[in-house]
Amino acid sequence: MSLFTTMNVTCPSCGQTMTMEAVGSVNADRRPDLREAILENVFQQVPCVNCGANFRLEPEFSYLDVGNGQWIAAMPARRMVDFREIEPETQESFDSAYGKSAPLEAQAVGEGLTPRLTFGWQGLREKILLGEEKLDDGIVELCKLEVMRNIDEAPVGEDVELRLYIADESLLTFLFLDINSEETLEEAQAPRALYDEIAAKRDQYGPLLDRLTSGPFVDMRRLYMGEEQQPQPA
Ligand SMILES: [Zn+2]
Repeated sequence: MSLFTTMNVTCPSCGQTMTMEAVGSVNADRRPDLREAILENVFQQVPCVNCGANFRLEPEFSYLDVGNGQWIAAMPARRMVDFREIEPETQESFDSAYGKSAPLEAQAVGEGLTPRLTFGWQGLREKILLGEEKLDDGIVELCKLEVMRNIDEAPVGEDVELRLYIADESLLTFLFLDINSEETLEEAQAPRALYDEIAAKRDQYGPLLDRLTSGPFVDMRRLYMGEEQQPQPA
């Protein structure tokens, strides 16, 4: 079931208040139209009743797609700085819904699911695209590092994200995006063969791949976000 609740929102352009249906959870197996709306960047976007400006709620919901083996906690982009605190909460939510703390029937469903945590609409959209394309997200993050190495002056910074945006038979198209506005800063392309090459020698990337996939937030930005916490001595 996909769950919505009515919420009061204020138009950022003119200040008009109105109500809209905010999603709490998406079941993409039952509502593939919602998955499409996310891919088309129109989900949870509404025109203001007063001035007509389009605006979009921040993502904050769980996304389930059993067909593609995905369970995703989608969070607002601005919360990424707290990903180390949010990751264990995400794992707990997954465990109680489909993992070790869930009823047996749910656990059976959960065996085919991989839990993930994303921030911002484009983080979520990318994971859904990878699910459709059957691409491994750890390998895709390694591709991004390779793409960045091959650009003379890649836009970098805390407010920039690099997202796989289109995957076709021969080409992978990546966008450097401003995290806040989601505007495209630069486009980069790589042959699809890059993915296959990296996947074929994934063992060589062992330690890096382990760092990228050490929690549900599988994103190259975790490499740049401060020191990883060492376990506290008992
Ligand atoms: Zn308005």
